[in-house]
Amino acid sequence: MIKKILIANRGEIAVRILRACRDLGISTVAVHSTVDADAMHVRLADESVCIGPAQPRESYLNIPAIISAACVTGADAIHPGFGFLSENAMFAHMVEEHGLIFIGPKADQIAMMGDKVMAKKTMARIGLPVVSGSEGTVTSVEKALRLADEMGYPVLIKAAGGGGGRGMNVAKSRQEVALAYETARREAGIAFGNDSVYLEKYLKNPRHIEFQILMDQFGNAIHLGERDCSLQRRNQKVWEEAPSTVLSPAFRDDFGRKIAASISQLGYVGVGTLEFLYENDQLFFIEMNTRLQVEHPVTEMITGYDIVCEQILIASGEKLSMTQEEVKFSGHAIECRINAENSETFLPSAGMVSNYHCPGGPGVRVDSALYDGCKIPPYYDSLVAKLIVHGRDRTQCLARLRRALKEYVIDGVDTLISLHQKMSDDQDVVSGRFDIHFLEKIFEN
Ligand code: ADP
Repeated sequence: MIKKILIANRGEIAVRILRACRDLGISTVAVHSTVDADAMHVRLADESVCIGPAQPRESYLNIPAIISAACVTGADAIHPGFGFLSENAMFAHMVEEHGLIFIGPKADQIAMMGDKVMAKKTMARIGLPVVSGSEGTVTSVEKALRLADEMGYPVLIKAAGGGGGRGMNVAKSRQEVALAYETARREAGIAFGNDSVYLEKYLKNPRHIEFQILMDQFGNAIHLGERDCSLQRRNQKVWEEAPSTVLSPAFRDDFGRKIAASISQLGYVGVGTLEFLYENDQLFFIEMNTRLQVEHPVTEMITGYDIVCEQILIASGEKLSMTQEEVKFSGHAIECRINAENSETFLPSAGMVSNYHCPGGPGVRVDSALYDGCKIPPYYDSLVAKLIVHGRDRTQCLARLRRALKEYVIDGVDTLISLHQKMSDDQDVVSGRFDIHFLEKIFEN
């Protein structure tokens, strides 16, 4: 069993992982940049190590500094959280090379799913429905035009190594292909150091639905149902819920089992998420994330399982603590991402938090690293807290969400709280009538 874990992350997710470690009796090592010396994750950990200056490249992405910190403190495993190095196959490989356990799948699995073209090919080969598009990467504007003409417009040009909703451009007609292609290539080269792109049919009004899977080293593979993450801005999720209002229990069970069985055939071990677009009662695979997701708590709230604890136990070589038959879904959960951003312009907002008041009461969970007087530095992702609410059904969940949002006070910086208040009162959100374009429509009006 793992005894000490170094958490290679910051913010609410570092705190979330720390809590799982404490529940399992595992010691913790926090790492931090110079500006995070007083951060909550540092205060709560058993030990902490400063790994460099504020810029992520010099601290939270600094592989030698992180591995040295693990070796010096005698940690036996590293948890990467999400973002930063969590999907960096080279990091996973180097962690193992140093005799440490990487809490995640093997490096080759990360590399395979990190290449979205390869991931789609693999899923199609094992029989999962994928969004139609190019067979592989598209290497010239001429080829992109030929394919787009065949597929019909609109088409989406996407970065093979993309993530975080970046590196994708829509071409609504033949005239727009060249610009969309060149822009996607350029953006992908800058953001991901890999300018390969591919083409996909642009679905007009889909929902984003993803399945959570868990696999141990003994071939046990289960799913924990789906999450509906359709409420997005610029292809980035802001509100997630479980279960989705559009899938029936029979469909969930059949499809979830099929996915779990297929992925375990690939030799995958760990937790993972398969993302799909849902249109005309069908799901089409778009990508797989080989790490913990930001929105994992909604699944925890409706199943009662702690996904981070399960992830650590799998990495320790333990068997999954549940069978598929034991998994029961209860009630409804919604997560609101509380980003330090302006609710209208979405511009990030750094500064010192004052008058912090966290909501509570029945059904309310807050995953955050905020405290009164803490500083939100300008260098990192703007997600600073997650408000997660559970109710016996969606109606009760929404009522509790409105109550919690009203109680939540974060002064000193802008946050998305007022946007979430607007969304939780919106008639289309309340009745579950939305797709991935819902927020764009709100902001156009
Ligand atoms: P990333 O890895 O950058 O998050 P994804 O492939 O997961 O990229 O897509 C992010 C979001 O972009 C999806 O949730 C969806 O809203 C939108 N999207 C992606 N592919 C398509 C598509 N083929 N048609 C329409 N929307 C898409």
